[in-house]
Amino acid sequence: MKQTTSRWLRRLLHVVLPMPCRLCGQALRDDPVPFFCQPCWSLITPIRLPTCPRCGRPFPSSHALSHSPGHLCGWCRQHPPAYHHARTPYAYQSPLKEAILLLKYHGKTQLASPLAQLIARAVGPPPNVDAILAVPLHSRRLREREFNQSLLLARHLGRQWHLPAPTSLIQRTVFTPSQTSLTRRERLKNLRRCFAVPIPSAIEGKTLVLVDDVFTTGATVNECAKTLRQAGAQAVYVYTLARMI
Ligand SMILES: [Zn+2]
Ligand SMILES: [Zn+2]
Repeated sequence: MKQTTSRWLRRLLHVVLPMPCRLCGQALRDDPVPFFCQPCWSLITPIRLPTCPRCGRPFPSSHALSHSPGHLCGWCRQHPPAYHHARTPYAYQSPLKEAILLLKYHGKTQLASPLAQLIARAVGPPPNVDAILAVPLHSRRLREREFNQSLLLARHLGRQWHLPAPTSLIQRTVFTPSQTSLTRRERLKNLRRCFAVPIPSAIEGKTLVLVDDVFTTGATVNECAKTLRQAGAQAVYVYTLARMI
């Protein structure tokens, strides 16, 4: 009864004091995505530049792939990733950036479903996938944040693609402080052996999709993919929502 009343009150408040769109400030009415008006949300469009077929890094020139479509970026040629390929359909820019920050740091978990739909709208699942996994958070970080935003994305993607999204196949065993201010070398050092697969037989021979919210340098997803491959996974595909470009 109490819950029904509060829901009713929220609805009433919404009519009397409409919530503003987090980007343009327009009052929200029947817009399908929470916190954003439809015109602002429709600004989120896939990256159109040619990208490295392995890591998904956009090439500076639009002609980069015109002569050899399999051309890998310099980074992938020097340091072949542990994952089969990474797909990141969107740039980490407004309003997607605001939506990810609202989900991740302000607990707006209602955004997980529309964000996962953005991935599913831009890219299909790779062939013969057995399960969708999220990049895990350390238990200490999970206690601070109360949820793993990547796991919410993985679950919604799993629902869209009719695939299981189990939670405990890979764990983060080492607590790493925030990585954002570190150099690539420092990040790599911090990440070494920070993931573990508790029951290798559960992933042996499996083809897995690994989901994360933002692809920054790719160091985290690569370390995760490496751990999964070493534990016996046959192939790991990385799907992230947005990348820094
Ligand atoms: Zn707006
Ligand atoms: Zn590459």
